[in-house]
Order: sequence, then C-alpha cells, then structure tokens
Amino acid sequence: MPDKVYDLAKEFKMTNTEMVNILGEMGRKNLSPSSDLDEETARAVRERMRSTNGTNGANAAAAPAPAAAKPAAPAAATPTVSGEAIEVPANVTIKELADRLGVPPSDIQKVLMSMGVLAALNQRLAADAILRISQKLGKPVRTATATGGTATTPRAAGAAPAATPATPTPSAAAAPAIPTVPRPARVPSANRPAVAKAKGTLSSAGLAPRPPVVTVMGHVDHGKTTLLDALRKTTVASGEAGGITQHIGAYQVEIDGKRITFLDTPGHAAFSSMRARGARVTDIVVLVVAADDSIKPQTEEAIKHARAANVPIVVAINKIDLPDANPEKVMTDLASIDLVPEAFGGTVQTVPISAKTGEGLPQLLETLLLVSELEVDPKANPQGNAQGVVVEARIDKGRGPVVTVLVQQGALRRGDIVVAGEHMGKIRAMTDDKGVEVKVAGPSTPVEIVGLGSVPGAGDRLEVVKDEKEARVIVARREDRNRDQRLGGPQLVSLEALYKRMREGEAKELNVVIKADVQGSVEAVRESLEGLGNDEVRVRVLHSGVGPIGESDVLLAASDKDHEQKNALVVGFNVGSGTGADKKAEQEHVQVRTYSIIYNLIDDVTQAMIDLLPPIYEENELGKAEVRALFRLPKGTVIAGCYVVDGLVRRNAKARVRRGTALLATADVDTLRRIKDDVREVQSGYECGLTLRDFNDIQAGDILECFEMRQIPRVL
Ligand code: GDP
Repeated sequence: MPDKVYDLAKEFKMTNTEMVNILGEMGRKNLSPSSDLDEETARAVRERMRSTNGTNGANAAAAPAPAAAKPAAPAAATPTVSGEAIEVPANVTIKELADRLGVPPSDIQKVLMSMGVLAALNQRLAADAILRISQKLGKPVRTATATGGTATTPRAAGAAPAATPATPTPSAAAAPAIPTVPRPARVPSANRPAVAKAKGTLSSAGLAPRPPVVTVMGHVDHGKTTLLDALRKTTVASGEAGGITQHIGAYQVEIDGKRITFLDTPGHAAFSSMRARGARVTDIVVLVVAADDSIKPQTEEAIKHARAANVPIVVAINKIDLPDANPEKVMTDLASIDLVPEAFGGTVQTVPISAKTGEGLPQLLETLLLVSELEVDPKANPQGNAQGVVVEARIDKGRGPVVTVLVQQGALRRGDIVVAGEHMGKIRAMTDDKGVEVKVAGPSTPVEIVGLGSVPGAGDRLEVVKDEKEARVIVARREDRNRDQRLGGPQLVSLEALYKRMREGEAKELNVVIKADVQGSVEAVRESLEGLGNDEVRVRVLHSGVGPIGESDVLLAASDKDHEQKNALVVGFNVGSGTGADKKAEQEHVQVRTYSIIYNLIDDVTQAMIDLLPPIYEENELGKAEVRALFRLPKGTVIAGCYVVDGLVRRNAKARVRRGTALLATADVDTLRRIKDDVREVQSGYECGLTLRDFNDIQAGDILECFEMRQIPRVL
C-alpha cells in the first residue's frame, strides 16, 4: 500500500493542509490529502522532516528548506526591499509579530487566511511563515531559522532575490507552513464510534465504494442555501453534460474524479424526518456556521442531530468575506461545545469558506472526500434489485407523480416495478440531477422517476419488487396496517416499534392550539408542527385559527381530556394574547407563547416534545476481567479474585458473567477492592477482588464483562 498524504501528516503530527503545502514546496503540486505518494516522494518527505527538524515532528512544518537547500547565507547580507528589516525572533505568536510589525493582528490572520490557514492569536509562527507574512505585508523582517541561520524577507514574488534566502522564494499560492500544537495521533472522535467501527467490516459480499451522501445543516441565515446553490453550480462550471441544473432534492458534485452526493434540502427538519422514518441516508453532515455570528441555537441543535445519528461533522465556517468575520471565534466556540477543531488539537475538520465568493469550496469538497474515506468508508452492493429512499415527491401536471429517489443499494432500472410506502408503479422514465435520461442508477445516485401511481412521502423507502402482483400485495398490507393504525384497531407493527411502545407506554402527544395572523401562516405552522413527530411523540393540533390568542383558546387547551400531564401549549405566530387569556393560562397551568420567528416556534415545540420522552440509555462497555480465584465469606458471599484483562472494572457498574459461550447472569458490581483497599475502579493489568450483588455462582475461568448504562440525550 503506498503512503497517502494524510499518512505522512499523521506520522509527523501535522495537519493535512500543512503536509500538502510541504509537498507543494517540494514540487508535488495539486495533491489532496488522500493522494497516493510513490515511495521515493515519501522517502524524500521523511528525510526532509528529519534533517530539518531534529526530533520534534510536530514542528517539522516550520522547517524552512529542503535538505538540499544551501545553509542559510548570513542574512544580514541580504538586501531588503524597502527600509530596515525588523528583527523578529522565530516562533513568535501572531500577536507578538503584529506588535513588532506595527499592524493589527487581524491583518496577519487575514494574510494567513488568504493562504488557506486559520490561526489563533497565540499560534506560534515558524521562520518561513514569518517571512511570508512579512513579504505579503510589505514589512521586511530578519528572523532566525530552524537550521540555526537567519533569513530576511525576500523580495516580492517575481523579483529574483539578490542572494539566496534561507527559505526558497515561496510561490504566491502556497500556504505557509505554520507550526501547530503537537497533536495526538488521530483518534475516532467520541461522538461517532459506530461509524468508525463499521469501517472495514463491510469488505466482503460484493460491496463496492459509493459516493458519500452529505446533508447541510446550520442556523438560519448562516448560508446553507447559498452554499448548496454554489456547490451545484460548480458541477455546471466543470462542464458536465447538460449544464442545466434543476432542483430535484439532491445532486452530485464531482471532484478529482470522485463524486459527492448532496441532499439539497437544508435544515434539520428534513434530516430528522428522514431519520424518524428509519431512513439512514446521510454519511456526513456539513455544519454551516457564519463567521460573523458563530454558534447559535440551531447550530447546537444540528450538532445534536448529527451526533444522535452517529454521523461525522465537517464544519464550514462561512461568510469569511465579511469584514466582521471572526473564524477564530467560531473555532473557539466550537471547541467549547466539544467539537474541537483539528487546528486546536481536536479531530473536527473545519474549512473557512465564502459561499458567496466561492472561496474555500474546493477545500470543503476535498475535506468531505477525506472524511468520507477515513471515517465513513461508504460501500454498497451495486448489483441486484435496488433499494432507496424518497427524497422529494410532487405532482407534475403532464407527467403525474414525479419522485426523487436516492438509490442506496443495487441498481435501479427503467422498467423496474417499485413500491414506496403505500405507493407503487413501474418506472417509465428516469433522469439524473442534470435532467439527463438514464437507464440505470447505482448507489448514492439521486434520480427523478416517473411512473408511480400516487405521491409517496419524503423518507419513504423505495424498493424494487418482482412483479406487479407482489407490489400489490405489499401495498395492500401496508394500507391495511395504516388504516388500522388510524382507526386505533388491531395493529401490525414492527417488533422494534412494539418493543418501544411496551417499554414506554403509548406514543406521547403534545397538544397544541395554534393562532396566527393570516391563514397562510396558520397552515404553515400547522404543517411544520405536524411534521415534527415520530413513533414516540407527536403533535396533536387541537385547534388552529386566525386572530389573537383568546380565553377560549386557553380553555380549549385546558379542557382536553388527555390533559392530565398538563402538556397542552398555545402558540401564537405574529399575534399577541389578550390579558384575559394570560390570566386564564396562569389559572389553568397552560403555557401560552408567542413568536415572530417560525424557527423559534418550531424549536420550542420540539423541545417540549423531547421533554415528554422518557430517557434512553445505552450500554457503554468498560472492560473485562477474568476470574482467577474464589474466596468464600461466611454468609455465602463469594469474592471473585480477578485479573482485569481489558479496559477497567468499576464499582456499581454492571457485569455480565460469561462461562464459555454461556451468559450466566448480569449483576451489579457491589464491592471492589485492590489489595486491601476499597476502590472505585481497577484498570487492566491489575488484580482485584469483587463481589456481585445477589449473585455468587462464580467459578474460576469465568469472564466478567463490565459495562455501564449511559443516558443519551434525546432528539427528534
Ligand atoms: P440559510 O438560511 O442558512 O439557507 O441562509 P441563506 O443561504 O439563505 O443565506 C442567508 C443570507 O446570507 C443571504 O442573504 C445570503 O446572500 C448571505 N450569505 C450566504 N453566504 C454568504 C457568504 O459567504 N458571504 C456573505 N457575505 N453573505 C452570504
């Protein structure tokens, strides 16, 4: 296996961008983090790193020159372009450099940003970065280089310097190699263990790589739509067939011969409604954060959604073209909510962009490909009958129901008989996202199909069946089931849903009365709220109407017969509430809230729905211990003398007792001792003595698997 750029970046603990830049300086231009490197190049990089940087790989990015470069000429001899060169020690921070040069620190950050690097004010700069910045700012400096010499700012690019500076004249386009804090080797981030684990287990069974599917989320007005439009246009610009893009709900972008599929419906409502229907569609979430506004409530909401779905997040820091853009603050704010950017030593990829000017979009696409390759490794079987999910559906006057399907498995063909939810038909025509007729569509491809008899809903699964007879049977069964559900009669539900309901009682309902200024708003609010629910919780609209909130609205909410939980809510959109209504609300314990921003209304109602849901717990494996000796206490309690072979064992956690392949019991770890002391936990490699609550049938050789139940935050 040849080394890839990111392998080397990891080896020398630097960012992928830094490694790409170093390779650029060595004459290997236009590489992406996932490009393969031949042996010779990889060797040359390693040599350069070692020879220029002593021991610390993390600072290798600061290395000023390839090994072959001449030792630094005494820099004092180098003529400067204008005025006296300012003395600057190497490894100054951005702030210190700004002070010495007499410029605002933001100017330096801007220069760095123009070269594709985002840096914090206390980020230290290596000699070559200092030289490049000073060159761009037209402020010559003299600084010590890592090889022990000194160097002076070279002439402006293009003019041949009179003497060779220690640093090769940088190309204007090359980003500076700035040192970063040494980072631990890349670890899968804690919020997506399942994704990381899934990698590598799929290689058999005819699976082939497929393009990643990306959803864009973020706060309102942060630029999701603009970004999706800009990315869609890139495809046109790259001269793909057709050239006319139409909105079909999803599209593909090609970069370096690789494709990425974008779902063209921004916002987390679409994402969560698909998820609520059990459709796992998205591989990566692009979280758009405006650089002039930073993290907002919907940003955090989007993060919750992505985490709940175990989907990796790439952050696009948007609007960097604005004068008050502060990408630095966005990164700090991200770090404060546990999304630590790579540049700060974390694992989250952040890409500064302007959806408006197009700056940074290629880097965003490259980053998506990289994250896809490293953390998702999306695969599907491209053969066989197709399965997919409905992304969008509408009625076209001439053609009837027109449905956008994202193929997930197999090959969808013109002529196939398909079922989607309670709807069926034969595919009469199929076009891709450019409006071009296609006969076959493989995994991760969005296509628009014509031929269904009626309109399915977004999120419905679509599958190809053998013939019309089979399709009719499936549809009839589904119709029956849904009718039963509507009538409250006998229900045929999936085991999973049944289990869920048994565990938690019937689905919860949040009762809502809606009032708004005009009928259009009433409808819009009603539709948005009714679309929020899932199997477990839904909104029930008791009443909706035009006009201010009155006493009767409150009474209606209060008099609802299922009202014992006091969960009825009266929401007003662009209307107020009369004093009579407010007083009544207080007496009757009914919440009345008014809004002028629909997203706030939706957010609050969503939160109220989440509050109705019982908590869910998931198992968190802690470790394993092997029972090696037994000590019996007088009352029959058995102390198991154990050796912790993996992870750790913790008091009050649970333990599964396994003997060979049999599972004997699951019991709480009651007492835990190391030597003579009671301890809270014991790590692998140590011995301990423990007792299990109400379970004493332990034998030497048993394995205890220790785990804890962890509460996971609920989302819709
Ligand atoms: P959405 O609500 O997240 O979909 O946001 P929009 O895409 O509708 O963008 C909101 C506003 O921000 C619009 O006026 C856009 O023109 C503007 N906008 C989006 N991206 C950028 C950008 O990169 N730079 C600037 N200056 N404005 C932007």
